[in-house]
Amino acid sequence: MHSASASSPASRLIRREILDLHAYHVPDSAGCIKLDAMENPYLLPPELRSDIAAALASAAINRYPDPCASSLKEKIRGVTGLPQEMELLIGNGSDELIQLLALALNKPGATLLSVEPSFVMYRMIATFTGMRYVGVPLSANSGKADFSLDLPAILAAIKREQPALIFLAYPNNPTGNLFKADAVKQIIEASQGLVVLDEAYYAFASDSFIPCLAQYPNLLVMRTFSKLGMAGLRLGFLAGSAEWLEQLEKLRLPYNVGVLPQLAAGKLLAHHEVLLQQAEQIKRDRVTLYRQLGEIAAVKVYPSEANFLLFRVANASAIFNGLKQRGVLIKNLDGGHPMLKDCLRVTVGAPEENEKFMAALRETITQSA
Ligand SMILES: *Cc1c(COP(=O)(O)O)cnc(C)c1O
Repeated sequence: MHSASASSPASRLIRREILDLHAYHVPDSAGCIKLDAMENPYLLPPELRSDIAAALASAAINRYPDPCASSLKEKIRGVTGLPQEMELLIGNGSDELIQLLALALNKPGATLLSVEPSFVMYRMIATFTGMRYVGVPLSANSGKADFSLDLPAILAAIKREQPALIFLAYPNNPTGNLFKADAVKQIIEASQGLVVLDEAYYAFASDSFIPCLAQYPNLLVMRTFSKLGMAGLRLGFLAGSAEWLEQLEKLRLPYNVGVLPQLAAGKLLAHHEVLLQQAEQIKRDRVTLYRQLGEIAAVKVYPSEANFLLFRVANASAIFNGLKQRGVLIKNLDGGHPMLKDCLRVTVGAPEENEKFMAALRETITQSA
């Protein structure tokens, strides 16, 4: 791709913030062991795949999808334990829902607040939508980042900035830790604005705010099925009171989730236990991988309640490139945020993928020492 030259119509007409933006970079992973994007490494059992294939074969793709996705919503309710009085709004992945929230709350001068380092789309979407953005750094006690919430700093920022919208990833990406529920509650209580808990990694975590929805009128919970094994389907949802969701529903493009993803996700959610079993396997393998990384002196690994691990090395770029040369693609976070200096993030894959990653890492570290 080439960028617009200074005098081209595109560069004259497109907003300055967009021209200055770097597109979300997706590296070429052909031929690699792909441990960079928190995907579920497992395929579905053959019977379930045939079942889905048969449903798709007879799908009415000549028709627009069910705009309310009612059948899908019922299945989501079934697997989420959503309180009866709460509603759902379906998105084409949760990225779309972040954008929809920013569009809805972006009154002139309104602020979107999040913590840093966290999911980069909060900041990017604030930029797309022209919303003011404030990022509050996570804790770095005496120079040692533990990535917990810096509650005094966040409460001060809430008071000072009066954010209309706060995003907290629970567990956080790219750090992997689950913030203290008590600190999150204090943030919700202190905020005049809407607080959205992004539970993209709920299947791998020990806690959720869905049971707290009724308690807080300024809370919504967002989830995606991407990390559970449906990244290709693009399906996320917001859960909360009708008061919020009826308004947000007006901004949802009428047919944002297609006939085929609705059908396939419906079939998958009818076999939710299959996906949860895969998630349990991933959680067990996370323990093994955490221990193995911890045994390497040149590696500092951080605790995780997600399907990935954050770790710090002496020279992240050298290690990243060494792994890539050995056919293993992970994520280099160095340069993304000062607290992520020399940090790398690896998705927990299937056991044989994790073993190949560990072997390649040991080799790379030995060679670069
Ligand atoms: C992956 C991720 C998302 C995006 O999920 P999609 O549904 O695939 O758009 C949202 N939030 C966090 C924290 C994530 O890590």
